[in-house]
Amino acid sequence: MAASSLFSAAVRRLEGKVAIITGGASGIGECTARIFTRHGAKVVIADIQDDLAKSVCNDIGPESASFVHCDVTKEGDVKNVVDTTVSKFGKLDIMFNNAGILGGDAKPDILDNDISEFEQVFRVNVAGVFLGTKHAARMMKPARRGSIINTASICSVTGGVASHAYTSSKHGVLGLTRNAAVELGQYGIRVNCVSPYLVPTPLAKNFFKMDDEECLNVYKNLKGANLEPVDVAASALFLASDESKYVSGHSLIIDGGFTITNCGFS
Ligand code: NAD
Repeated sequence: MAASSLFSAAVRRLEGKVAIITGGASGIGECTARIFTRHGAKVVIADIQDDLAKSVCNDIGPESASFVHCDVTKEGDVKNVVDTTVSKFGKLDIMFNNAGILGGDAKPDILDNDISEFEQVFRVNVAGVFLGTKHAARMMKPARRGSIINTASICSVTGGVASHAYTSSKHGVLGLTRNAAVELGQYGIRVNCVSPYLVPTPLAKNFFKMDDEECLNVYKNLKGANLEPVDVAASALFLASDESKYVSGHSLIIDGGFTITNCGFS
């Protein structure tokens, strides 16, 4: 991951911008926080893992990254992180609605799926994105600018790769992205999503119930791309920057062509 040239940004593509990253304590969100700050943004990490998030902020540097506790399923928390960010930095340019869960068992068989687990996945993955979009738009609308980026998945366009809850929740993220892009475009707010294939983060390792070594072996045999968090962060950087100023309503699928070649793990 550290080998990427994105970490040594000669051109700072987010200079002067302010971003919130939900789920920024770990995995894709953490990597994106490191890259956004390298590119000149002030980043607020919004997460439920307080200690981890604080240590990521300390490592990045408290002048560039700060932490606000936020459970994305709670509207008061989401409102608070947005209000705190704007009172500290005066504005909000980028909202990365990235926090997500797979759900307890992530079993593919519907007879094994529990409704409470299904509802919890929807609360985090769909309602969390809805609340993040709503409260970011509240600040971005009067400013008439902003970039909202949601983390979907290849599961937003495939079936049978993950549980019913996860798959349908990510289809929901894609739907929210499209609806919000249509509604908010008139205010200069762009809304897009990133849709990665498998990335070896704690979430993916829990999904396969594997330790690091086992995960590496499965990962080596996957069809399609061998992604790292930085590959997703790079796409988020593009969608956050002015380089994508005419891009809205899109899902940037990051999968090395997996979804157009075959849909299922070998
Ligand atoms: P991760 O587990 O490393 O990170 C997820 C983060 O979200 C964690 O820091 C966690 O504390 C936080 N989070 C969970 N519930 C929360 C809540 N209620 N409120 C606030 N924060 C919460 O996993 P990751 O792989 O980096 O996942 C990031 C996103 O990427 C998720 O939306 C996931 O669905 C998506 N995604 C992951 C993969 C993959 O293979 N890893 C593939 C496609 C999409």
